[in-house]
Amino acid sequence: MQGRMMFQPLLISSLIEHAARYHGDTAIISKNTDGTITKTDWTHVAENSKRFANALHALGLKQNDRVATIAWNNHRHLESWYAISGSGMICHTINPRLFPEQLIFIINDAKDRVILFDKTFLPLITGVKAHIPLVEHFICLGAFDQDVADALPDVKFYDTLLAEQSTEFEWPLLDETTASSLCYTSGTTGNPKGALYSHRSTILHTYAICLPDSLNLSAHDIMLPVVPMFHVNAWGTPYAAAMVGCTMVLPGPSLDGASLVQLIDEFKVTIALGVPTIWQGLLTAAKQSGTQLNSLKRTIVGGSACPPAMMKAFKDIYDCETIHAWGMTETSPLGTGNQLKAKHDQLSDAEKFKLRLSQGRPPFGVDLRITNQEKGTHQLARDGHTTGNLQIKGHWIINEYFGKNESALTTDGWFDTGDIAALNEDGFLFLSDRAKDLIKSGGEWISSVELENIAMGHPEISMAAVIAANHPKWDERPVVVAIKTTESQITEQDLLDYYIDKIAKWQIPDTVIFVEAIPLSGTGKMLKKDLREKFGDVLLGS
Ligand code: ADP
Repeated sequence: MQGRMMFQPLLISSLIEHAARYHGDTAIISKNTDGTITKTDWTHVAENSKRFANALHALGLKQNDRVATIAWNNHRHLESWYAISGSGMICHTINPRLFPEQLIFIINDAKDRVILFDKTFLPLITGVKAHIPLVEHFICLGAFDQDVADALPDVKFYDTLLAEQSTEFEWPLLDETTASSLCYTSGTTGNPKGALYSHRSTILHTYAICLPDSLNLSAHDIMLPVVPMFHVNAWGTPYAAAMVGCTMVLPGPSLDGASLVQLIDEFKVTIALGVPTIWQGLLTAAKQSGTQLNSLKRTIVGGSACPPAMMKAFKDIYDCETIHAWGMTETSPLGTGNQLKAKHDQLSDAEKFKLRLSQGRPPFGVDLRITNQEKGTHQLARDGHTTGNLQIKGHWIINEYFGKNESALTTDGWFDTGDIAALNEDGFLFLSDRAKDLIKSGGEWISSVELENIAMGHPEISMAAVIAANHPKWDERPVVVAIKTTESQITEQDLLDYYIDKIAKWQIPDTVIFVEAIPLSGTGKMLKKDLREKFGDVLLGS
């Protein structure tokens, strides 16, 4: 057939080339591990990524080799990402909050040849070094540092390596299905498993997250990814920022509310992304400081359900729109994002608010369905209330786990997410719970998320987790584990009464346990498994 369009492979290197050429002077602001701020721009990020690509080649690394990072969100980390993936190696981001045994497992499973690390994580590296024999190079993301050199004899320093290299580097023309990055799931059950993304899946995902009905990103934005680069690649934001040419404000190690408020106000952040526990801290700090967070237009909340009270606070107090999004490591991660449609303009404010609490609908490129059983293929109605097993397929969805020679899919090619949800006719997703967190009470299911959302709506509760506790008669019953706000006098009965007009009587939790802290996972999610281990038998009596 004559007459056709050019073919260019979809490559990550083209993102950084584009950002450097068309948005070269757009600022990249980075909080360093030592607390100082570096102001750079896309031109210099691109130059350093080429220097580092040269350095990796000089160390003898080849295409497909795994280069791991254990680092905060900062400019060196960003540069190294483009260097690694752009030159055909695989960027393996590691969550530093994992237990040492998990770290060792992941590094060995990935066969990482290099580890880049921020100084903060030096003790972690020295602690596991003896157990990761395949790692040939340790590179500290910073300038020469005597303490680091003393603790880790053969360590190299990123700034030194860069100083030795030129900014001339020809990005290789790779096949677009070449692997580009690797993230492990948290492994709450069994060993963590790796999701291996490709250049193609990454670029297509990047287009999708930039769309107006997703994050609505543009060159006007000043983006604060609070979500760490080790949590599903900061949800893909470092790629999206290069695609649209926006400013990034990289928060480094300071993820507490007060630090975030300061970054938002000082650098006029327009869009910020993170898990609900992060925003809880931010809202408390903002209230204390009295700031109006004037620049902030959108917050993207995902990773766990967004409590209604949080969405309301952002809207009513700070005039900031919350975009609720759902995804997982296996889905790159964006599966859905919540933006309303033209037909919803007619809805009342209350109806709109209710719809906005849903996890949203899929962008072009992914498809959702719910089925009657895990890995099942029988589809259930998209009526907004029938719940079932949520399954997904699309251009950036996992096919098989890293190193596993078997399909991760159903017999007809869908990925079962392990979530229980309903879909409405427009594809809005209403997530009830993770299958393993649902409370099975006397043959009926109760959503722990719904009960948590109610508790967190109480003005004197700052965080709440609802778990299934074993029960002699009903098998399982809900128990609330909650943190009070400072100086609150709320009692167990007060909180139980608060449920009365909000939920069916049989769904009201059996008891409330007030605690000082709720354990969080490495990505800031409440560790309900740990709470179940601790409080799972409270209803059994002695
Ligand atoms: P992990 O939480 O195990 O570290 P992921 O980050 O991949 O790993 O988590 C994905 C899971 O997080 C989803 O399957 C879902 O249960 C939960 N999740 C993600 N976003 C939301 C959301 N907006 N609302 C409710 N649950 C969510």
